[in-house]
Amino acid sequence: MRRYSKHTDEDDIRVRPHRKGTRPRTHTRPKHEDAAEGFVLTVDRGRITCLVQDRTVTAMKARELGRKSVAVGDRVAVVGDLSGAKDTLARVVRVEERTSVLRRTADDNDPYERVIVANADQLAIVTALAEPEPRPRLVDRCLVAAFDGGLQAMLVLTKSDLAPAEPLLTTYAPLGLEHVVTGREGYEDGSAAEELRALFEGRTTVLVGHSGVGKTTLVNALVPERQRTTGHVNAVTGRGRHTTTSALALPLPGPEGAGPGAAGWVIDTPGVRSFGLHHVDPDRVIHAFPDLEPGTAGCPRACSHDEPGCALDRWVAEGHADPARLASLRRLLATRVRREGD
Ligand code: ZN
Repeated sequence: MRRYSKHTDEDDIRVRPHRKGTRPRTHTRPKHEDAAEGFVLTVDRGRITCLVQDRTVTAMKARELGRKSVAVGDRVAVVGDLSGAKDTLARVVRVEERTSVLRRTADDNDPYERVIVANADQLAIVTALAEPEPRPRLVDRCLVAAFDGGLQAMLVLTKSDLAPAEPLLTTYAPLGLEHVVTGREGYEDGSAAEELRALFEGRTTVLVGHSGVGKTTLVNALVPERQRTTGHVNAVTGRGRHTTTSALALPLPGPEGAGPGAAGWVIDTPGVRSFGLHHVDPDRVIHAFPDLEPGTAGCPRACSHDEPGCALDRWVAEGHADPARLASLRRLLATRVRREGD
């Protein structure tokens, strides 16, 4: 599974410093065999809050990790004081291989990329149908980030009491996304939350959405206050302007006695307003279109898939895939070169 290798941080292979009388030895993992397993709930200004068994432990990155990043959703190995007591600090010594990576570039002209969330299964894009008006281009950018990172995407359309969902659903129909439409009534009688819980059950779902779209209402409906204030998590949400990418994992309520996260995780991304897409690889995006992907075999080298020689036109003309799917793919790929906020 080297699909993400191009973008993962440096290798985990380390060379021990040369010691007197011994040959340099190349060590691969594991080291720290006594380390405990942790799940990263949030990362804020270098402080990593992770769940170790049922305790919330604050940790920092061990020096040996070098430039390797630690992100919300990472499975990590932790050593040191794991009591979770106030003012204790453990160390994250290892980050396990990621199954998916939601990342963003600070902006399209800045190639520096950050991992926002690791190991999530799906991205729920929350958009209001009115007040504020839907911004399909922003939705497209979120979709590209999801497909690039190996996540499934779904739409959560809110405020259906103010405007119909059909126009937006029609735009996105070719993508065959899961979607939930919610309005005020859905929250009042709990039906929207039920519908969402069914889609989120047992999975790790990242929520993204502009302010005012009702994302907070959604989080409150899914995760009761009790879960949201587990351990120190409530103490680390003081994110300011400079921590716009910090996300927070919240456990969905599970059966009595089950540990946090047994029913799945919701990862709220309060500061993520949009995605810089400089890092996106069209081939990873196309991977989310299994009906089109084989058609790219006849493409010229480094095909943008939106140029005269692109083999996808013939692929669709020969009836292998729906033209609407190709049009959607091309629209998504075009968002990479469009400026943010357009
Ligand atoms: Zn092509």
